[in-house]
Amino acid sequence: MGRLQKILIPFLGLVLAFWFYSARENFKPEMLKGKRVIVTGASTGIGEQMAYHLARMGSHILITARTEAKLQKVVERCRELGAASARYVSGTMEDMAFAEHVVREAETLLGGLDMLILNHVGTSYFGYFNGDVGHVRKLLEINFLSYVAMTTSALPMLKESQGSIVVVSSMAGKVGFPFTVPYSATKFALDGFFSSLRQEFSIQSINVSITLCILGFIDTESALRAAADLLLVPPAPREECALEILKGGALRRRELYYRYGSTRLPLLLRDWAAELLDYLVRSRYRLERLAGQ
Ligand code: NDP
Repeated sequence: MGRLQKILIPFLGLVLAFWFYSARENFKPEMLKGKRVIVTGASTGIGEQMAYHLARMGSHILITARTEAKLQKVVERCRELGAASARYVSGTMEDMAFAEHVVREAETLLGGLDMLILNHVGTSYFGYFNGDVGHVRKLLEINFLSYVAMTTSALPMLKESQGSIVVVSSMAGKVGFPFTVPYSATKFALDGFFSSLRQEFSIQSINVSITLCILGFIDTESALRAAADLLLVPPAPREECALEILKGGALRRRELYYRYGSTRLPLLLRDWAAELLDYLVRSRYRLERLAGQ
């Protein structure tokens, strides 16, 4: 009994200490009220849903994408939902000058920036790698370099506001995924850049948080069009996904996994059973349906 106590008491102490240390602040919508937020890729999909959530919470929103007509509609809806202000800038993230221009617009129109949400993604193909190096370069510009350009331009404002950077990535940016080779490469690049930058912020005591969002399959139109037929897993709802991303950013989380069970848990295998994880990823596809592509 005495021996059991000697083991049990320190163990309970450790459990309690861990629980106390990891007890987390809860999200409240007021956290984003009045905040000045840029959302990229907000004409549709998860970005559009993030804009609506932010509007309901009373944020100042600046959205961007290429399609002006869609952006106009999203902005109108944001105003109806109660946004403190809602504006858009249209253009392509293939052009780094445009990426920097969006940030300057935030400075001019909003007088600063509290949260930069990098979410846009260029169109790619779903199938075996076709050897098109030009496409990989273009996708890197849209999905990666423009994220770097916007972050660099926004940093002075984010330092001033002690703000947040939210980077929307994917399971395909943490583990190799077949049939999305160029896309996967751009998402891995985001992890490398932003995780390294976070280290430097920590060393330099820069109080700007970086939240990397690792998403599974989400029911946006483009994702359903590309993969619904080939994937065996059901997609998660984009409205809920958008809210979880905002919560993660507002709470200054290091990484956000959505849905947790289908992203974080399999990734636990990565370092110890990589072959098994690769097999599990491959087994999510109906390979026979890809044969014709
Ligand atoms: P969508 O395809 O629905 O939306 C992409 C957005 O990016 C649109 O607003 C689009 O608008 C914009 N965009 C595309 N090309 C450009 C460009 N060249 N310049 C500027 N904007 C551009 O994407 P999702 O909502 O599905 O995905 C959002 C994020 O979530 C992405 O980063 C994606 O990688 C990630 N993710 C999504 C998953 C899913 O299953 N849906 C899974 C894992 C991660 P426009 O065409 O008007 O320019």
